Amino acid sequence: MAEQKAALKILVVDDEKDIRDGVERILGRMGYVVRTAAKGEDALQLLETEPVDLAILDLKMPGMDGMELHQRLRELDQDIIVIIITGYATIETAIEAMKQGAYDFIPKPFEPEHLRIVVARAHEKLRLTREAEALQAERARTLVDLDTEKSRIRTIVEALPTALVVTNTAGEIVLMNPAFVKSLDLEESAVAGKKLASVIPDSGFCQMLEKLSCGKGDPAGDFVGDAAAEAPTCELVVSGSKYLMARGQAVINENNIHMGAVITFANITSLKMLDQLKSEFVAKVSHELRSPLSTIHEQLAMVLKETSVHETDMDQHLLERAKEKTHGLISLIGDLLDLSRIEAGGVSHNIQAVQPGALLKSIVEFLNARAAAKNQTLTYLQEKDALPTLNADPMALESIFGNLIANAINYTPEGGTIEVRIGTTADGRLKVQVADNGFGIAPKYHQQIFERFYRVKDDNTRFITGTGLGLPIVKGLVDGMNGEIVLDSDVGKGSVFTVVLPV
Ligand code: ADP
Repeated sequence: MAEQKAALKILVVDDEKDIRDGVERILGRMGYVVRTAAKGEDALQLLETEPVDLAILDLKMPGMDGMELHQRLRELDQDIIVIIITGYATIETAIEAMKQGAYDFIPKPFEPEHLRIVVARAHEKLRLTREAEALQAERARTLVDLDTEKSRIRTIVEALPTALVVTNTAGEIVLMNPAFVKSLDLEESAVAGKKLASVIPDSGFCQMLEKLSCGKGDPAGDFVGDAAAEAPTCELVVSGSKYLMARGQAVINENNIHMGAVITFANITSLKMLDQLKSEFVAKVSHELRSPLSTIHEQLAMVLKETSVHETDMDQHLLERAKEKTHGLISLIGDLLDLSRIEAGGVSHNIQAVQPGALLKSIVEFLNARAAAKNQTLTYLQEKDALPTLNADPMALESIFGNLIANAINYTPEGGTIEVRIGTTADGRLKVQVADNGFGIAPKYHQQIFERFYRVKDDNTRFITGTGLGLPIVKGLVDGMNGEIVLDSDVGKGSVFTVVLPV
């Protein structure tokens, strides 16, 4: 405050020296910078070199009177605050001066306290006016900035080569770029403001969109805008032959409230074609290799049988290793062929009514010998007496649960426990869980292990042989049956694979 007072400049114009000096003294003590003039002309001259914030003018002066000086001051500086000093006789003139814009008047004779109050009030008004002006200027600047920012973002979005669309919490399109319109073969005018789900009626996409837009059905918060979390994706087919990968992110404001979603679309048609060519190639090669390899395997088995008595231990060992390796190759080829078939969509040929309890029990019984060889306990637990009947290909079911249980045996140490539970979900679907107390899988691998050839390599699993194709086969089959597979596992905690299938 003292600093502001010091900065405030006041001009006192009065022909009476006593009043000039008195006012200068009082205001000087309040910390203001005070200049004085004995007549109007001097005042104007002084103002040319030194502008002031406030002027205190005597109304009655020889030569230029206070009224005229007031007008001249206003012409020079519109914002100057003027206080009139006047005797009782000229009070009407003072009122006239106020009408013309003087801020206040002080009748003569006046007490120092009166002067102090009036000047302090004028000072406060000046301060508020300047503050308001500064705020106004700041606001105008912010609006200009915002406007520039908005048009800059719009220009960038429009120019983006990647298809992009933004939705609000209702899932309606609020922003889209030309690449989006082109990628999805749309008419911009026909889709603006429409619900994105009606523009792209793919069920997987709609589900992702709903979760992203308003967090609905996402209690785990998997779809919130955590930059570290991987953005959810969904594959789409447009016009029958174009493949797009939609990748979305929820838009969350600073109060953690869903504002909508931003989704980008990448054209993956060429990748898809390449993938298909690769699958066809792998399938062809695998098919060609299978017969000769099986023959070699059988011949090795025969040689081993016939030579066991005559040959050295070394030869025997080498032959056994060769037979083991060919066996590994044959199972790899079998997995590759299964996977190709699943990817081509030709898996479940032999659809029939299956009693899942009986089928699962027989798989458990079959694999019990393998578990027993590792001193493991493998049990079958039926959680419900009456289980629903499945309409499915029994071979596909055997492959799903055979793979999961075989994995549980493989990745659980000697003496471990594996439990196969069968029951139903609250909405009546079949639920099978394969739970083990083995090595467990760190959450960061939970997605990758369902990818082809992916194997977790750590101290526990390094020496366990496998192809990395078991879980992709399982996932492909479960997806093909419109089911779900979920993994709950962590290192040292064991693993629970839950498969839910529609009945
Ligand atoms: P494979 O068993 O032939 O390596 P899979 O696709 O069946 O291939 O499994 C992929 C990886 O997932 C395995 O290499 C293993 O690291 C991990 N895994 C699968 N099941 C389990 C389990 N029950 N416990 C621990 N790790 C597992």
